[in-house]
Amino acid sequence: MSMNLRTHAFAGNPLRSKTPKSTDLFSPTSAFESLKTLIPLIPNHPTPSPDFKVLPFSKGRPLVFSSGGDGSTTPIWHLGWISLGDCKVLLGSCGVDLSEDSLVYLGPKTEDDLVYWAVDVLEENGVVTELGGRKLCFVELRTLMVAADWADQRAMGELAIAGHARALLEWHNVSRFCGSCGSGTVPREAGRRKQCSNETCKKRVYPRVDPVVIMLVIDRENDRALLSRQSRFVPRMWSCLAGFIEPGESLEEAVRRETWEETGIEVGEVVYHSSQPWPVGPSSMPCQLMLGFFAFAKTLEINVDKEELEDAQWHSREDVKKALTFAEYRKAQRTMASKIEQICNGVERSQSLSSDFNVESGELAPMFIPGPFAIAHHLISTWIDQGSSDVHSKQQASVSLSSL
Ligand SMILES: [Zn+2]
Repeated sequence: MSMNLRTHAFAGNPLRSKTPKSTDLFSPTSAFESLKTLIPLIPNHPTPSPDFKVLPFSKGRPLVFSSGGDGSTTPIWHLGWISLGDCKVLLGSCGVDLSEDSLVYLGPKTEDDLVYWAVDVLEENGVVTELGGRKLCFVELRTLMVAADWADQRAMGELAIAGHARALLEWHNVSRFCGSCGSGTVPREAGRRKQCSNETCKKRVYPRVDPVVIMLVIDRENDRALLSRQSRFVPRMWSCLAGFIEPGESLEEAVRRETWEETGIEVGEVVYHSSQPWPVGPSSMPCQLMLGFFAFAKTLEINVDKEELEDAQWHSREDVKKALTFAEYRKAQRTMASKIEQICNGVERSQSLSSDFNVESGELAPMFIPGPFAIAHHLISTWIDQGSSDVHSKQQASVSLSSL
């Protein structure tokens, strides 16, 4: 099943390929100095070079607008970048003064002479905001993820930018105090790190990433895959096993331990597949890094840990293939894109569109798996695409997705 996916969702951020050196005008340091000079001059500041664009967030939700939905075509969401002047107005409406320390550097597009920033506006209502003639609204990142057309490089780039920005802003929210001495922390390097404000401590604090192993466990004959259900999943959804890596543990050990703890199955060989940043987990974890593996089982008997999982079962390649075929991922994407347009137009007031993996599978499907925005989808579809080739070809599984 080809998805034309160049990278995983949330990877491939077009603003992050290289961070300019500090002497460069586009660097965090230079851009921050320019910002500091300009902010007091708003609204009469001269247009700087590079110019600045700001992406506001409220409660982890980026500002977006929607275009192109005329009944016959699917609307497309876009990030709601605003100018420094508009940013000051927006913050002012929430009773907050714009300061350079509230902005977080995201990266430059040197070809467009632009540097991009994010800001948390703590807007309570998530109201539709009229700025620059556009109807803008704050939308959950998970909703944007489902609504992004995974074959559209621009859309996936915007999703990655929003994911990175959300992760940074959430990390700022959960790292307000120094873990060593308890004093307040202050942003440094245009918000790319923080530092303890206590002069005798000055501890440096870096953005947090929480690594998670996610594995498709396969039987010795390479005929069946172990899929599981958690109680928080939507009905009929099955996925890979996953778990946090513990201190002092290798990735392979984490794969074997988690599989054993959750299902009682012993794993032998572990083969790496690909990795995916996952900034849509709980806000206490600003960004998880999903590390995907194939895990080859040495035993078959399942003993489910009911505290961790609702169920775990071996599924034949044929059944899993059907689950992939029936699920109407494209339809789910279009439905969600239309809902975003309705929210931006003020028609749809509901913001509760973030339920897990909103995939409306066909009525005939007894099960489905997460959509193409999740690494689990690609672990499973890679295994399906492998066909029934012998177990010795498993090394090729990691090679075949080398473009991810
Ligand atoms: Zn400290």
